[in-house]
Amino acid sequence: MTIIHNLGFPRIGAKRELKFALEAYWKGESSRDELKALGASLRKRHWSAQSGLDLIPVGDFSFYDQVLDMSFTLGNLPERVKAFHGDQLDNYFRVARGRSAKSAEEGHAACCSGVDAGEMTKWFDTNYHYIVPEFNANTEFRLDPSSLLLEQMSEAKMQGIKAKPVIIGPVTYLALGKAKDDSNKIDLLSRLLPVYAELLETLAEQGVEWVQLDEPILVTDLHDVWKDSFERTYNYFKNIKVKLLLATYFGPLLENRRLVASLPVDGVHIDAINGRDDVEPFLNLLAKEKTLSLGVINGRNIWKTDLNATLDWIDPLARQLGSHLWIAPSCSLLHVPVDLDSEEHLDVEVKSWIAFSVQKLEELKILARALRYGRALVKADLDANKTVIDARRNSVRVNNPAVKAIIGKLDGKRGQRNSPYAQRAAKQSACLQLPLYPTTTIGSFPQTADIRQARSRFKAGMLDEAGYKAAMQTEIAHCVHKQEAIGLDVLVHGEAERNDMVEYFGEQLEGYALSQFGWVQSYGSRCVKPPILFGDISRPYPMTVEWIKYAQSLTRKPLKGMLTGPVTILNWSFVRDDQPRSVSCYQLALAIRAEVLDLEEAGVPVIQIDEAALREGLPLRKDQWKEYLGWAVKSFHITTNGVKDETQIHTHMCYSEFNDIITSIAEMDADVITIETARSNMELLDAFDSFNYPNEIGPGVYDIHSPNVPLKEHILHLMMKAGERIPARRLWVNPDCGLKTRQWNEVIPALTNMVAAAKTLRTSGRN
Ligand code: GLN
Ligand code: ZN
Repeated sequence: MTIIHNLGFPRIGAKRELKFALEAYWKGESSRDELKALGASLRKRHWSAQSGLDLIPVGDFSFYDQVLDMSFTLGNLPERVKAFHGDQLDNYFRVARGRSAKSAEEGHAACCSGVDAGEMTKWFDTNYHYIVPEFNANTEFRLDPSSLLLEQMSEAKMQGIKAKPVIIGPVTYLALGKAKDDSNKIDLLSRLLPVYAELLETLAEQGVEWVQLDEPILVTDLHDVWKDSFERTYNYFKNIKVKLLLATYFGPLLENRRLVASLPVDGVHIDAINGRDDVEPFLNLLAKEKTLSLGVINGRNIWKTDLNATLDWIDPLARQLGSHLWIAPSCSLLHVPVDLDSEEHLDVEVKSWIAFSVQKLEELKILARALRYGRALVKADLDANKTVIDARRNSVRVNNPAVKAIIGKLDGKRGQRNSPYAQRAAKQSACLQLPLYPTTTIGSFPQTADIRQARSRFKAGMLDEAGYKAAMQTEIAHCVHKQEAIGLDVLVHGEAERNDMVEYFGEQLEGYALSQFGWVQSYGSRCVKPPILFGDISRPYPMTVEWIKYAQSLTRKPLKGMLTGPVTILNWSFVRDDQPRSVSCYQLALAIRAEVLDLEEAGVPVIQIDEAALREGLPLRKDQWKEYLGWAVKSFHITTNGVKDETQIHTHMCYSEFNDIITSIAEMDADVITIETARSNMELLDAFDSFNYPNEIGPGVYDIHSPNVPLKEHILHLMMKAGERIPARRLWVNPDCGLKTRQWNEVIPALTNMVAAAKTLRTSGRN
């Protein structure tokens, strides 16, 4: 009989309970015991939401990030926090978030100084961020007996949960980490394996039958050393008395199929949504006694599964494999919201096409019943599913012939801007009159309680349109005046009116629907609520012009209009799966283009098109990059190339690496690009050693993910490093990213230091 299981459940809570509990704890408003109790109650609730499954994941809960949890379980704490006082949880949050020397003094453990946060980067091609494990030649591992995983296991046991512990596999753990010296992290494998083995033995002693080891790097292009590491690792575990389910997801195994099939594990999970063509050839390679787990429900998107079609496909496999066939969502449900039933205002028609985590597990149960006892038993469910699948396919809400016609006519003329960069730069500099090392920010300023309150009162109908407009204008004016006082050169309006850089546009574009509680964890306590792109896209009216025009009216300094780019809107939405993503992206590009032209018309001299998510949309396999980058860059061109030479186009990206896409970034031909670099100490600029980036660039000098205020000397140091690669006349000075999650009392000193550093640079003769 087919077994059903889950790879991971969202930990944040249907109403973001974990977020609020964490933030209260960090502010000192609640105790550690309260935080821990909340964690336990969420786990209990989530386990019970998964009842009916044959195996329930345990260890998927985390107070910040599962990769950081793994580092702590393995005793791999960065050197800089090891000597600190306080308990594990204190150290855990120190690594996750960093701590300024100032807040350390004010805190209880006055003996422990400030500390830098661990580097954070995106989890494969998702918008989830993990804390990068740190290694060096001396790294030793030691199993932490008080690890949260083991605590969760005993908790699950007490509650009678059919638990399957979930841990990150050793090879992926090493591969995702970073050596902080010039040692080779692969050399650590021999020190790492005994500790993993000890952990697996411990779980075996607790009576665990199956352990899920996540090794998603198996869906990427692997060097031979990593392939060898897989063999070494899983042979090392061969005699451990617990069954291993090796879990891969986010794509097909392709050339790694043979390797994976040959590893001495008891079962393998593959992503049959993103790697459906893998299933048959992989099955042919897999020994009969092994279990094959198929991810047949999309763990990354929210559309209802076509249950009838899925059954047509897996029914023969179920017959062939019996209880050696398991089915599950394609990956952890961390990447989709918790429960559709929470939605009260979601467009009814669109809602009927959607499944969140809880609903996806219901789909799984229907599939299992059909496979076990025959489809007749679940006929009503299957018929209902067919009705909605057909309704969505044929809905007039999805198909807009007018939009399709414009897309059909897109031609090469929408390629380049009127003149090359050098000519544009001369005209822009004549208009804008900026000093060397111009200073600017990335767009948003702190989203204060006042702002959020005005927005929610407006949404709830407690504040009328005029009242809301006045409140936002007050915020914009405050923000503009603060920037003038700090002495920034290119100002922004501060994005007070935006709840989120993507949702804001989703709310106004035709073809989008918005959920109320469709939250997905992005990092730590930060969640995003991706809007739902269900149909053809069009822009019924200008979306940002009024606010930005107002800000410009308050200052003589140049104002930078803020828009989110088409690729980022696409990558941070839940996107329809019934047409190529490139087509949806071109539709978005046309809508944002219209907005760009309206801003220009309104007299806004600088326009920033954020493409924060361009890199994370890169396919996991290199041979698919060209196609993706091709339509991504074309979308950017469609968006920007209608403006005059005098209008300065900025773009912004928040990544810690882009060496490998630098030519595409250059091809986008933005006049200025601002990027994230502060935490990685300008390492990112390595790309500029071999590639002469032609336009202007602002490497971030203020790590906005941390409450720490950067000192002027530190900013100078970073800018000097940047100056080794990029001529001064093409350098800008700016933070890593937007400031919405920060407080004014952090932002003002930080930006003041930044402006002071820029002034020193201007007079330092390094020009
Ligand atoms: N303009 C946006 C902001 O400042 C950019 C955010 C981002 O890149 N993630 O908030
Ligand atoms: Zn950013």
